[in-house]
Amino acid sequence: MGTQYHIRVPFTVENKIHNKIISQQQLQREIDALLVSINQEMSTYLVNSSISLFNQSQTTDWFPVSTRFLEVVKTAQRISHSSQGAFDITVMPLVNLWGFGRSKKHSFPSQQQIDSALDKTGYQFLQIQSSPPAIRKQKMHLSIDLSAIAKGYAVDAVALLLQKHQFQHFLIEIGGEIRAQGQNKQHQPWRIAIEKPTTLYRSVQQGLKLNNSAIATSGDYRNYYEKDGKRYSHTINPKTGKPITHKLASVTVLNKSSMIADAQATAIMVLGVEKGKLYAQQENLQVYMIFRDKGKFSVWHNLPINSLLK
Ligand code: ADP
Ligand code: MG
Repeated sequence: MGTQYHIRVPFTVENKIHNKIISQQQLQREIDALLVSINQEMSTYLVNSSISLFNQSQTTDWFPVSTRFLEVVKTAQRISHSSQGAFDITVMPLVNLWGFGRSKKHSFPSQQQIDSALDKTGYQFLQIQSSPPAIRKQKMHLSIDLSAIAKGYAVDAVALLLQKHQFQHFLIEIGGEIRAQGQNKQHQPWRIAIEKPTTLYRSVQQGLKLNNSAIATSGDYRNYYEKDGKRYSHTINPKTGKPITHKLASVTVLNKSSMIADAQATAIMVLGVEKGKLYAQQENLQVYMIFRDKGKFSVWHNLPINSLLK
């Protein structure tokens, strides 16, 4: 997935008692093997991954996928429906057109180019079937990009692996998507921080205690470029075919599922502040938004007060 990961499994009494069998090396090997196999299905960086083969295929026949691939696509489609298309895994031609794809060449496409890329998108043209698990293009040139959801899925998969080995306490992070369970080495709740959405330096906006929860942030302050004083970020509005430009600087979503937190953060990033708030209420999501407001940052959130660190 072109990113890094960090996993902490503290050497605590409970973790030890419940798990007498597996060595650290063995656990590391199992986690690596799991991530390699997810990559082999969902990474658009690998030319022979399942997703790349599906994208290259120019047929509208059913394309067999694994049950976990189907699970990710199903969740993506559900979130596309609920967000009325703000989240859309078929935006790849637009991501590439604006230079946020594999080749990081930023360009300013013409309206005609945007329209022709838009023609190749639309989640409603992607069909799914459960048994046997398969997906199908209803437009020959459709392609999919799981960048906004697969890292979250991988975090959940690692959590399942650790749970299978009876670990009670862990913190998993893949490319910024985080999930915590139990406590840290000091027998305290895991603590993480939401970053200030600034580009020049990195600092803490808000510290949080995580209580068996996943957390994901989408923002416009890391992966972007500027032209004529305007910021073009890597999140695409699937309706206009253009990178989003609004006052929402970052949105953080807490959820039991890292996959859902990941995708919903991207969905809300597209929706912007006002629609995003309504959507969070409608979907019962815990969110923390930071937006630009008359030259400074303002915050809106609905997180439980006892999860905020002073
Ligand atoms: P990050 O990759 O920084 O964690 P996100 O989870 O928000 O951030 O995912 C952004 C990526 O998702 C983009 O680089 C692009 O590949 C893809 N993407 C862009 N716009 C959308 C969208 N509207 N719906 C789904 N995926 C998108
Ligand atoms: Mg995301």
